[in-house]
Amino acid sequence: VLRVREVRKSFGDHAALDGVSLEVREGEVVTVIGPSGSGKSTLVRCVHQLEAIDGGAMYLDGELLGHEFHRGHLRPLPARKVAAQRSRMGMVFQQFNLFAHWSVLRNLTEPQVLVHGTPVEKAREEALRLLERVGLSDKAQAHPRQLSGGQQQRVAIARALATNPRIMLFDEPTSALDPELVDEVLSVVRDLAGGGMTMIIVTHEMSFAREVADRCVFMEKGRVVETGTPEEIFEHPRSPRLRAFLSRFS
Ligand code: ATP
Ligand code: MG
Repeated sequence: VLRVREVRKSFGDHAALDGVSLEVREGEVVTVIGPSGSGKSTLVRCVHQLEAIDGGAMYLDGELLGHEFHRGHLRPLPARKVAAQRSRMGMVFQQFNLFAHWSVLRNLTEPQVLVHGTPVEKAREEALRLLERVGLSDKAQAHPRQLSGGQQQRVAIARALATNPRIMLFDEPTSALDPELVDEVLSVVRDLAGGGMTMIIVTHEMSFAREVADRCVFMEKGRVVETGTPEEIFEHPRSPRLRAFLSRFS
């Protein structure tokens, strides 16, 4: 589904991504772990095209992201086409970014209407189905401020799902939450994984990163240092840096 090849991204003279490659196959759940500043957020933000990359290439279902060939040269895609590519991915941030002055229902219907031109009535049905899936059927008319952080994040997940994305990208979806609200969000993500959704999940919840993943990626200093099955990464880490990182959690 997604192929990231030798991607580079610098901020000033600091290389946030220093040649990162990653493949995510259909139905695969890839978790990304690593110390603060290792480039995890930058990676998913580049995939979602919130940041322009400086080098390398990314493909979604074989289609080049962010650029197109024009008379034998690569040129940046016009904003409209970037938006279309972005709509094939669902992103969930640490901060939920819901529209505060809209009801939960409108937060879920508007993207469908705007992105796919879905008729309002159909968008409503889909929104209610998604709310049921994240356990919030009774909150359709509520406004975000009337919800707990965990509920808001579940709405944000439902919203990301509303455009029927090919892949879901999560950037620390639980790190802004009070500890007692973490589980309700993780269990929604777990259900998605069980349902075969293709996902990249950046998380500092190590037990979750291990449990939910088909494959786990350890990043440090803008590079992928090690990648493997959860068992390989958590039970048999090869690189000293991964071992040192994991020892902080035990
Ligand atoms: P954390 O676990 O703390 O979220 P991270 O692995 O997500 O860290 P990134 O946010 O991707 O790390 O940042 C990677 C590096 O790029 C850091 O050194 C950070 O300071 C730098 N960086 C990220 N975004 C920007 C920006 N918009 N401008 C300048 N530097 C940035
Ligand atoms: Mg981050």
